[in-house]
Amino acid sequence: MFEPVIGLEVHVQLDTKTKAFCGCATQFGAAANINTCPVCLGLPGSLPVLNKKIFEYAIKVALALNCTINENTKFDRKNYFYPDLPKNYQISQYDLPISENGFIAIKENKIRIKRVHIEEDAGKLIHEKEYSLVDFNRTGTPLLEIVTEPDITSALDAQEYLKELKSILEYLGVSTCDMEKGFLRCDANISLRPKGDTALGVKTEVKNMNSFKAVRQALEYETERQVAVLKDNGKIIQETRLWDEKKQCTISMRSKEEAQDYRYFPDPDLPLFTISKESIESAKKVLPQLPIEKRKRFISEFNLSEYDAGIIVSSLRMSNYFEECLNFLQEPKKIANWLIGSVSEELNKRCLDIAQIKLKPEDLVGLIKLVESNTINNLTAKQVLTFMLDTDKTAQEIIKEKNLAQISDEESLKRIAQEVIDSNQKSVDDFKSGKENALMFLVGQVMRATKGKANPKIVRTILENLIKET
Ligand SMILES: [Zn+2]
Repeated sequence: MFEPVIGLEVHVQLDTKTKAFCGCATQFGAAANINTCPVCLGLPGSLPVLNKKIFEYAIKVALALNCTINENTKFDRKNYFYPDLPKNYQISQYDLPISENGFIAIKENKIRIKRVHIEEDAGKLIHEKEYSLVDFNRTGTPLLEIVTEPDITSALDAQEYLKELKSILEYLGVSTCDMEKGFLRCDANISLRPKGDTALGVKTEVKNMNSFKAVRQALEYETERQVAVLKDNGKIIQETRLWDEKKQCTISMRSKEEAQDYRYFPDPDLPLFTISKESIESAKKVLPQLPIEKRKRFISEFNLSEYDAGIIVSSLRMSNYFEECLNFLQEPKKIANWLIGSVSEELNKRCLDIAQIKLKPEDLVGLIKLVESNTINNLTAKQVLTFMLDTDKTAQEIIKEKNLAQISDEESLKRIAQEVIDSNQKSVDDFKSGKENALMFLVGQVMRATKGKANPKIVRTILENLIKET
């Protein structure tokens, strides 16, 4: 039996207005090469000046990830040639990163963080059929690289770690973590070893995974691939492999570089930086409540299940929305059910985040209250929610306009129920002979006749009574 040993490297783009070492804007999607200057284009004689915001963000992240912050930190040049790297080196951090030795706790597991360091991003290559274009707008935008120890032992745990890390970064407000825009990217190192062994096997690095799901799938694939090689008495080659989303497999790209290949050396244009105790202390004071604490609070204060709290807290905006709803209705469990259920369903369908819809917390609560007061049933409420999101109207307005109020008036329901009984004699007999399902069928028929507007509980009682009378 083999077990995978996984370490992850996450690059996250810091949400600063300007780049790491010059005053160019970091704006995404701008016309190609608009946001460039002699510094980020690496022109001779230009000098980098560190953006102060980056230390502020990096310290926050280091604290949230339980890291030690190094008093002295410096920048190094990582040398390599690539067309989207005009200086032929990347400013990064080598032996004195801003912080080291932290961890993220996920349930009972602690995933150790080896280091968090600052570096600048490269530009982007756009490959056309017969040529390639280069856009330097991204060159020099600030990144944090967050590296774990090889503490992860399954593809699923890797996915859980990434979800938690993303939540933490969003809570800190240091990055939008938009994976589609490449603001959060993940590379993985994976090796196998016989279960119980402590020595590490030869690892491969997997790149090009654009979603958490892709990370999980790629690692699942790579685990299986390595198991097959080892079982066949083959050797794993240390190399970089690319995840091919379409073919759902990893493909060998190149043999992996070692650190010495990059000829790291201290950047002579940037001084050694000292991080004062005061700046760490003042960062501690403004640290927001982090997901792990918020989850605990939601469980103890609102009596949510671990599962519900986990889902709601994983998004800062969802958890804020949830708490705003509570100002209008003190029913945490009901609100959680709505948010996790129908609201999330609608958001997924529309590819939107809760912050991007106009549905106000008080309006969602208004809808929930109408269900509670039996004005509409759950089924209708789901339709009303769709209309609310489409039109920005309140639940009350939509129900009135579309005549969706539940029919609870017994006389008209009795009349419809009798018609259903008369035309479904077989089901009535089945029910009489003990088949419970037959009653559900009859309830369904009444619901259909009322276009889903009947109160199913009342319908059930009416049907039972009418059948008893016959
Ligand atoms: Zn610039």
